[in-house]
Amino acid sequence: MAGLDPDDWSGLRALGHRMLDDMIDRLAAQDGQKVWTPMPDTARQALRRPLPRGPTDPAELYDEFRRRIVPYALGNTHPRFMGWVHGGGTGIGMLAELLAGGLDANLGGRDHAPIELERVVVGWAAEMVGMPASSSGLLVTGSSMANLIAVLTARRRAAGPAVRSDGVGGRGLVGYAGASAHGCIPRAFDMAGLGTEALRLVPVDGDHRISLPALADAVRRDRAAGLAPFMVAGTAGTVDTGAIDDLAGIAGLCADEGLWFHVDGAFGALAALSPAIRPRLAGIERADSLAFDFHKWAQVPYDAGCVVVRDGQAQADAFAQTLAYLSREDRGAAGNAPWPCDLGPDLSRGFRALKVWMTLATYGADRLGRMVDECCAVARHLAARVEAEPSLELLAPVPLNIVCFRVASGHADLDWLNGELVKDLQEAGIAVPSTTVIGGRRAIRAAIVNHRTVPADVDLMVDGLLELAARR
Ligand SMILES: *Cc1c(COP(=O)(O)O)cnc(C)c1O
Repeated sequence: MAGLDPDDWSGLRALGHRMLDDMIDRLAAQDGQKVWTPMPDTARQALRRPLPRGPTDPAELYDEFRRRIVPYALGNTHPRFMGWVHGGGTGIGMLAELLAGGLDANLGGRDHAPIELERVVVGWAAEMVGMPASSSGLLVTGSSMANLIAVLTARRRAAGPAVRSDGVGGRGLVGYAGASAHGCIPRAFDMAGLGTEALRLVPVDGDHRISLPALADAVRRDRAAGLAPFMVAGTAGTVDTGAIDDLAGIAGLCADEGLWFHVDGAFGALAALSPAIRPRLAGIERADSLAFDFHKWAQVPYDAGCVVVRDGQAQADAFAQTLAYLSREDRGAAGNAPWPCDLGPDLSRGFRALKVWMTLATYGADRLGRMVDECCAVARHLAARVEAEPSLELLAPVPLNIVCFRVASGHADLDWLNGELVKDLQEAGIAVPSTTVIGGRRAIRAAIVNHRTVPADVDLMVDGLLELAARR
């Protein structure tokens, strides 16, 4: 065989079969395992070797993967991982990654089937939330990138073509989001050259939803000051508490004021698949742009974010370039314009669409919607358990799948105590919740995003927490 391929494929084939069996075994039997194990320094050091100059047998590398990587992974595939907002992955998603790797497709552009599949998946995303079938979009690394693409598209729409050659300078563009918006929205304003000060963080109400009167007020004040309001980013599922902004209200305000209506639905957009929750997302279908993740509640393996833009021309206006070596042809392999590279910052792009397509089609939208409901039911079970325990206190409403609570006695400094208890729980390998701050108080935060988490898992987490608290 030429190049880097082996003369005899049988060794690699056998190794591949063993890898597949081992990884399926691991997915099938996680429950008895610790959720997270800190990586020992010896394992860290052992990985730090200089660039290998000679060859190594892949079987040896696989052995190292099993000994030094697998035991010290974060554990988000485990049913008792509840930290941050992490998806749990699936077997079919893993297999799709293998197929995509084998095909080694580059979805920057040109005429090939993988690009058609990405268009199909983006169309399904639009259909999921009720945006028009003519919407455009891309699969990207995650919602951070999807939100940035939306901000850049809105910026170009507001400022016209010259913003791409001259920069934003002096236009006074300002945008709005709720105070509980994700940190990637201010960062998008930073990276778009608008500056984080140009994002007004509007106060939220007692349910952690953006205050519409305060939003209207902020827009009025900025216009009076000679500034140029251009977009509002509503959130469907805030990262701290799972609050869903009044999206229909924001849509109406944006229509009245001529503002771009963006929705950050990183995990919450998936709740559109639940008939029970869908009404609370009303207005999402009116979004000019939507950012969300397939790698969170849709359980697609990392990474798989998605941006959907109602007006495809607006997205192309913000990103398309004309470069001689990328010339589009009327036929041949260089046909099939517009290319994905016209719709975002990446030129070379992997085949994320395959794992998204296989996951959505394997389970179907109805089953995924029921899974969303099941996660929310587990969160309600946890909230009820917290309310029933005299030493625990619920710190925020539980509108979706996130529960913020704390141990409310046992130490003068409860912020410190709860922070320590979360680290204790994680290091004991019992469960991995994370923390946040709600109304100035340190909260233990459990986000039920993993499809494997059942009520018994959150009970084990609470039992472990109470025992660790008693021991302190
Ligand atoms: C996770 C999250 C993001 C960021 O998404 P990534 O995929 O991690 O880049 C943005 N907004 C919200 C509400 C999130 O939960």
